[in-house]
Amino acid sequence: MAHGLNPPQQKAVNTLAGPLLVLAGAGTGKTRVVTYRIAKLIQSGIRADRILAVTFTNKAATEMQERIGELLGKKNKKQPATSTFHSHCVRVLRRQIQHLGYPRKFSIYDRGDQESLARGVLREIRVPNETLRPGDLLYFIGGWKTKCIRPADAAAIASTDKEHLAAMAYRRYQKGLKQRGAVDFDDLLLLTEELFTNFDAVRREEAALFDHLLIDEYQDTNGSQYRIVKALAQDHRNLCVVGDDDQSIYGWRGAEVEHILRFSHDWPDSTVVWLENNYRSTAEILTVANRLIAFNKKRHPKELKAARPGGKQPRIEQYPNETKEAEGVVADIARLLRQPDFEPNDFAILFRTNEQPRAFETELRRAGLPYVLIGGMSFFDRKEVRDVLAYMKMIDSPTDEVSLLRIINTPPRGLGGKSVEVLTKEAVRQGKPLWDVLGQPTVVAVLPDTAQRACEELRSLVDMFQQRFKKRPMVDAMRAMLERVDYESELQRLYDNPNDREARMAALEELANALGAYETKAKKPTLAGFLDDVALGGPDFNDEKDKQLKRNAIVLMTLHSAKGLEFPHVYMVGMEEGLLPHHRSVAVEGEAIDEERRLCYVGVTRAQDYLTLSMALTRRKWGKPRDTIPSRFLFELIGQAENPHAGNTATRQRPPGATRTQKAATPATRPPSKTRAATDLPSRRRRT
Ligand code: ATP
Ligand code: MG
Repeated sequence: MAHGLNPPQQKAVNTLAGPLLVLAGAGTGKTRVVTYRIAKLIQSGIRADRILAVTFTNKAATEMQERIGELLGKKNKKQPATSTFHSHCVRVLRRQIQHLGYPRKFSIYDRGDQESLARGVLREIRVPNETLRPGDLLYFIGGWKTKCIRPADAAAIASTDKEHLAAMAYRRYQKGLKQRGAVDFDDLLLLTEELFTNFDAVRREEAALFDHLLIDEYQDTNGSQYRIVKALAQDHRNLCVVGDDDQSIYGWRGAEVEHILRFSHDWPDSTVVWLENNYRSTAEILTVANRLIAFNKKRHPKELKAARPGGKQPRIEQYPNETKEAEGVVADIARLLRQPDFEPNDFAILFRTNEQPRAFETELRRAGLPYVLIGGMSFFDRKEVRDVLAYMKMIDSPTDEVSLLRIINTPPRGLGGKSVEVLTKEAVRQGKPLWDVLGQPTVVAVLPDTAQRACEELRSLVDMFQQRFKKRPMVDAMRAMLERVDYESELQRLYDNPNDREARMAALEELANALGAYETKAKKPTLAGFLDDVALGGPDFNDEKDKQLKRNAIVLMTLHSAKGLEFPHVYMVGMEEGLLPHHRSVAVEGEAIDEERRLCYVGVTRAQDYLTLSMALTRRKWGKPRDTIPSRFLFELIGQAENPHAGNTATRQRPPGATRTQKAATPATRPPSKTRAATDLPSRRRRT
């Protein structure tokens, strides 16, 4: 077991009990320590199902699962639970939420569901759209929730008129969720915390399910997560956390890096392990990373030491516009892929915002290269997928009003706006779910004939498919359901072009594949379980075919979702002021810029062998090309910016030809380059 671990890593892996902290820089083997330690625990006789490992993304959880599997070998079938905070909370709430007055079959609202509820709430309290839009309200609520501020406290701290309105709406919004037996994503954490705080017996019961708790990326825990961890670990105290304060990138979501920094204070007898050898990246890449992060004011000084000397210098590429940037990056990848040494999945294109990948997707498709877009607006946000999921949600729980309203007349079945209004008014009057009203003959009798028949049809559809989805495989039920509601007619109605229709149908087929994969993987597959998986960011497409696909595709993802991963080739694109650092943080400077710098550092430290940073000299905004400014981080990482914080780590060097004095905050017209003489580079003004 000691094989493949250096002495401090061994120390961490062999510390099998009590609180343990591994605080160390990127690529030093923290996640490796967690996986090896789990394997070690199992080998030393701890039952796999007594161990809970928490990671930040579904992808990380799956990868960890795979790594543990490899370590334990084929014989050992038992695997510990690896989950994200959110998915663990779903499990807790499914067992315990009734203590808080919610039904155990609660639904998890996604963004679209939240918006409909927010719209309804604002209408109820007669707030016009110009004053507060549903999106604004959700922004306020999201902000409060990540800071664990509940409606009463929100009202107390609200200062502007808008905030007061939002706080009032927040109270209604929470009530609305509860009435509908629903929770939103943030509630998963908040309600779990509430349960643990107010019901100690529940806390003890949940804590007693595990003897060991291990948490990766601990620097990104927010207040709720921090308290949930404490609640789960305080009895057995076998808590291992690993993280890196330099990679704390979720401050904007309420994460507090202090949680990791005060671990030894919270858990006084803890073992602390520091790691400093980076096994991931070449020395050249680490030089750049170290230089960049040294610009942050508040940090625990630590240098990454390269276990892999030498390497290729990182490149900086400039392109005239964003289309050319995408073409250039894709052409580069295509060229490298023609060599036998590289596979598509050796490459990652990392970006800051969800709008950036579009150009790259287009180019990759044109080049016929396989790719996967991870995170961002996904498959599950497509209209047809959401429609069909709404049917499934409604079958699972007919009182899910948002879903019912979504499909009540999709495809059109004669339940138009007027009829629906009559029904909803009646539901409000009776204080009953819309679904119940739909089945009341006296109410339905006032509707036109077609509407009456439609109500009947909906009721019988739900009855029938509640039974069908109990049988296996559920995929058959899904197909039968699509036929019964004649969803194809909806596609016919909306899309004239047969290619469009085919693409939409293919998306539904993909949904069926996801359901199929879920059924194979889950221990006790249920419709509700599948819907939970979807709500938590999409089930893993885990069957063999998908695995192959995943294995051989270029990865496109945001810097945030790249945390913890590594790739031989990394392309960081859109290295411009306003993108990275993001314009929201430029406006407030200070801590916000430091967080963007950490994000840039996360990106740089994903690269194992080759790192390419690129920027477009102009970028379209609302359709018009605008000049860009190179990211200040480009100047920092190649040592062209003066570092006021870190002694002399940044030596001033200028490539030949660059004569202007450049300031970090306002890089001059000539962007930096390490690989080519600056004279070869197009100037920012000269457009080609
Ligand atoms: P991050 O901060 O980015 O999450 P990390 O600290 O979790 O990084 P790992 O992902 O665990 O780092 O490890 C980085 C790489 O180094 C992996 O490829 C891992 O297999 C390798 N590695 C870690 N420790 C060793 C070691 N002792 N010997 C050889 N390779 C190692
Ligand atoms: Mg890691």
